[in-house]
Amino acid sequence: MEQVQLKENVLSLLEDKIKLIRKDMEAIYLVGPIKLPVNLYGETIEFKWYSWLKTENVTDDFQQVIHQLSSAKLAEFQQSSVLVYGDFEYNEDALIRMHSICHTGDIFGSKRCDCGFQLKQSMKMIVEHGTGALFYLANHEGRGIGLFSKAMAYILQENGYDTVEANEGLGFADDTRNYDDAIEVLKALRSKPVTLITNNPKKLKALKNAGAPLAGRTPLWGDISEYNEKYLKTKVKKSGHLE
Ligand SMILES: [Zn+2]
Repeated sequence: MEQVQLKENVLSLLEDKIKLIRKDMEAIYLVGPIKLPVNLYGETIEFKWYSWLKTENVTDDFQQVIHQLSSAKLAEFQQSSVLVYGDFEYNEDALIRMHSICHTGDIFGSKRCDCGFQLKQSMKMIVEHGTGALFYLANHEGRGIGLFSKAMAYILQENGYDTVEANEGLGFADDTRNYDDAIEVLKALRSKPVTLITNNPKKLKALKNAGAPLAGRTPLWGDISEYNEKYLKTKVKKSGHLE
């Protein structure tokens, strides 16, 4: 491959902020921490932000990695990231949330689900706890079916399907989410056990089985309305969520 020299100090500014996580034949490049002041319920809170990219190009020549960015069309794909608060590496007790992206709930504030509320509320819980991390998993839209399919699933739901039946009606397994990359990133940021914010004991078990250092679970409910009542009940009835 042709080596193109990066401009003056670009590499030296970035190389200490990039971490190569090797995984089988693939690489996860983790970049950060980056200072991110966030408006959380009207208060400015400073988080440390990281993003990551998984590719089959495994190299610790970061000049090559950076050089390939401009032709990789990354905006056409989703990248995940993590917001870290406090002394995440060393504090004994940390909370984490594995938050699945929800375009409608997180961005538009849709009341059809409780995702937007859970996103903000878990950030608040992490800050109040003193240490933790919120993983924002960008390839998890609609429990892994993607945004376009989710629009179709919503049409089925408007016609009597519940959220599980709708995914299955489109030919998907109910839940196709995978946490492997996020777990690798978690392990790169912290080796001590963490407490998972979730209402879903199955998620705790799945993450534990995949090798995440989990100590326990703490629940997160709220923002129940006429618009998401049925959705939340289905989560309890069909997806094993605890009330
Ligand atoms: Zn949602």
